[in-house]
Amino acid sequence: MNDLRRHNILVVGSSNTDMVIKTNHLPRPGETVLGGTFFMNPGGKGANQAVAVARLGGQVAFVCKTGSDIFGHQSQQLLEEEGIDTSYIFSDTKNPSGVALITLDAHAENCIVVASGANANLLPSDLAKAEEAIEKADLILMQLEIPMETVEYVARIAAGKGKMVILNPAPAPSAPLSEELIKSLFLITPNETEAELITGRKITDIETTKDVARLIRDKGAKNVIITLGSKGALVCTDILCEMIPAFKVEAVDTTAAGDVFNGALCVALSEGRGWVEAIRFACKASAISVTRVGAQSSAPYRAEVDTFIYK
Ligand code: ADP
Repeated sequence: MNDLRRHNILVVGSSNTDMVIKTNHLPRPGETVLGGTFFMNPGGKGANQAVAVARLGGQVAFVCKTGSDIFGHQSQQLLEEEGIDTSYIFSDTKNPSGVALITLDAHAENCIVVASGANANLLPSDLAKAEEAIEKADLILMQLEIPMETVEYVARIAAGKGKMVILNPAPAPSAPLSEELIKSLFLITPNETEAELITGRKITDIETTKDVARLIRDKGAKNVIITLGSKGALVCTDILCEMIPAFKVEAVDTTAAGDVFNGALCVALSEGRGWVEAIRFACKASAISVTRVGAQSSAPYRAEVDTFIYK
């Protein structure tokens, strides 16, 4: 891994606008409630991970599809301001930008409806136009908020070119991942639930986590990292299978912890760090993110991770 010195990272995934209304209680079917504050946040797992990479000093380009509407334009502008290469953000003339409508009550219970919009229309034909971006990248990071055929296409093309393909299989896939996809992965990074779903095995302790990670490797993924929330993450490669504990913090909002973890991990790997060091870096970055409210807004900057004081 030492030949990887600040190599290029490409994120291929979703971009959404989260629209949140706070209210005293969630409406029942047919009911209208007068809400309180309204706010909009940029979101989508792809965009969240690209922002995390950029803030931590990685060189990153982002491929996604937005509608040709005000939300799409705003997302693109915000991503540019983060220092992300947005040359491959495609504009959909038929579908609106992805949005999530979120109602949040006084007890932090929520109701969320997502309209994927243009994200569901990011197709292999678009990625064929982004071949130069794939060519330039050394690490390619994807999630599952875009069509599976697109994820499979990118993985096949990129692995064929000898790139390191990293899949964060979130949200949990509704159908099993194809054998060809798993075999093309340099790394897969499920959380506990996703790892259980992929293998059909329950995780109850470190030993069963190791078993599940080994089962995923048996399916063909070269390396596996299972994230375990406040417990940390387990890494399984051909030479090690080890638990890396999380950093102890006062968590206030764990939204996008996994997104920050994945972005940070890619930055560390792109700098040539070894597994344990890279995961510790990702654990630090995601620990900082859970001490703050929000998704993209909670992603830390490099200096914060480098100066993080832990217990
Ligand atoms: P996801 O958000 O995808 O469900 P996890 O909940 O497993 O992913 O969190 C990803 C990583 O974020 C963990 O491996 C850990 O390093 C960090 N993390 C999550 N929750 C906490 C927490 N409460 N305290 C410290 N670190 C946390």
